Amino acid sequence: MYPHPLATRRSFLGGLAAGAATLGWPARGTAGEPERPLGVALCGLGNYSRGQLAPALRLTRACALRGVITGNRDKGLAWAREFGFPERNVYSYATMARLVDNPDIDIVYVVTPNALHPEHVIAAAWAGKHVICEKPMANTVADCNAMLAACRAARVRLSIGYRLHFEPHHRELRRLAREGDFGPLRRLSGGLAFTINRRVWRVEKALAGGGPLMDIGIYCVQAACLAADTDGAAHATFAPVAVRAREHPKRRADLFRDVEEGITWAMEFANGAAGEFSTSYNGGEDRFRAEGERGWIEFAPAFPYGGIQIRTSAGAPRIGAAPESQQALQMDDFARCVREGRESPVPGEMGRRDMVILEAIYRSAAAGGARVEVKV
Ligand code: NAD
Repeated sequence: MYPHPLATRRSFLGGLAAGAATLGWPARGTAGEPERPLGVALCGLGNYSRGQLAPALRLTRACALRGVITGNRDKGLAWAREFGFPERNVYSYATMARLVDNPDIDIVYVVTPNALHPEHVIAAAWAGKHVICEKPMANTVADCNAMLAACRAARVRLSIGYRLHFEPHHRELRRLAREGDFGPLRRLSGGLAFTINRRVWRVEKALAGGGPLMDIGIYCVQAACLAADTDGAAHATFAPVAVRAREHPKRRADLFRDVEEGITWAMEFANGAAGEFSTSYNGGEDRFRAEGERGWIEFAPAFPYGGIQIRTSAGAPRIGAAPESQQALQMDDFARCVREGRESPVPGEMGRRDMVILEAIYRSAAAGGARVEVKV
């Protein structure tokens, strides 16, 4: 477990009460009052928070930016001025337990390096706040279990930052998988790669948990599970039965000391779907394809924040305009889940499922490509 240094019995019990009260909120204010947008605090003010989430929180309707958690107080105070929230809503990682006393904040969005997700998610849960945690959920399945247990005990909701579930082209993939226009999507493939050529936390195993598989290969895993799942009833835990993987030879062993530079893996599903995927920090690739007996759908690019393009064997599908912000849709949906007492379509259990798959892929690569069973 990850007891927060400042967490006390009082704050934990207070957290339980606050969490339960939030879960019980009505869908709308009474007597025609406008909904109060739920308050979000971003935890970790790096590139993704600055470039994507903060701008998205200007577009959201069900939630709004009301606080930050940062290691740099001056930066936090500058954000308070820029986004118009009070200075008292600026926290450090060490003072997160005090969130329990702050009714402005309903949701903490954890956007720190992967290894820190568990302690920050658990601290937020102990303070009675609902949590969105960025992908990958954590570096190990054991950490995911601890995070899920803490959120359950505190009765707060936990969701993972899987923005593409709210994106219309990926929703079309899910529709095709379930409605079967092309028959069950059985042959899957994809790849996602970009180049890293300097030392950043993403190439340090202690902080990132692994290399590109953890960071971006996870998008191929997500899309493969979405495409192979013809039923959707247990979509958060739908997984392949087995994987095989091979790590790419390293061209920059100096940079990728203890993480893979690239990896290729195969996924095998119980219903006969299968696919091969690759990811790398040394290249450029962004694609996904799913094929059934009667047709196919192809994404290129498949996974960016905007500009996703698809083609199908039946021509251009009718899809509404791309959203201004995938992240705004994602955060609004979570705020509505909290208000309405619904489970998120991308819950913590899905983040855990993906870690089970990623761990199996790493085990297979370590065993020279052996078939490794996946047990979610
Ligand atoms: P970043 O390096 O730009 O930001 C990380 C933040 O964490 C920084 O503000 C840094 O100061 C802070 N931090 C706190 N403790 C730290 C420590 N010990 N070492 C390093 N930094 C520390 O990273 P980012 O690109 O914003 O990624 C943050 C998280 O968001 C990651 O989990 C990443 O996978 C995820 N992410 C998701 C998406 C998406 O599309 N869903 C996109 C980018 C990043």
